[in-house]
Amino acid sequence: TTFADWNRSDEYHNSFLIPKDAALDGALQFSAEQGLPNISVSTAQGKFLKLVAKSIGAQRVLEVGTLGGYSTIWLAQALPEGGEVVTLELSERNAEIAQANYHNAGVAPKIKVIVGNATDTITTLDPEFDLVFIDADKKNNLNYFTEAKRLVRKGGVIIVDNVVRNGRVSDPSYTDSNIEGIRMLLKALKDDNEVDATTLGTVGEKGYDGFLYAVKL
Ligand code: SAM
Repeated sequence: TTFADWNRSDEYHNSFLIPKDAALDGALQFSAEQGLPNISVSTAQGKFLKLVAKSIGAQRVLEVGTLGGYSTIWLAQALPEGGEVVTLELSERNAEIAQANYHNAGVAPKIKVIVGNATDTITTLDPEFDLVFIDADKKNNLNYFTEAKRLVRKGGVIIVDNVVRNGRVSDPSYTDSNIEGIRMLLKALKDDNEVDATTLGTVGEKGYDGFLYAVKL
């Protein structure tokens, strides 16, 4: 199978399960016009994040890695009145593009963007969050995951994106810092009694990758 097959498959399933949403489509379009790379979660993955948030009755969600705010909008759409997504982003420009997208999508009041290096800004946050979505620089995954465990409530969920990377994470010939960051997280999880976790491989319009899904015990 090829990328074209995966794209067609996502489009086919989405056509039954995910109605077109002008706010989300508009956010992707504006982000592209502003020159942001096409590295946000896929439509189906965004819907999955929304469903997880709904399933656990999330009121407070933390996101690490905002980009143009596409995944943030999905998460915000899951929250009840008074709910909040806090999202951490290194780039001032990305944060500004995201803010414009939140405004256009009508979810700006539910979202707080904190600009800075998330390895620092995450340490300033106080518990509790119901859900943490980690999708920033992969080399710091273990850092973010350790902080996420501090911040999330018991029974809360931590999801880490891009943990499969075309199967490269399991191929020892790849040694770049992003791949190593995922391996470090996996090694730490082997002896971690505070969470229970699994990797869910994903394939679709974003290629072959996966989510790590962890529940805090
Ligand atoms: N979650 C977004 C979505 O699905 O729409 C995509 C996030 S993109 C894959 C990763 C983002 O993490 C980029 O915007 C990048 O600037 C940001 N980032 C990279 N290193 C960071 C760091 N140390 N602290 C905070 N953000 C960082």
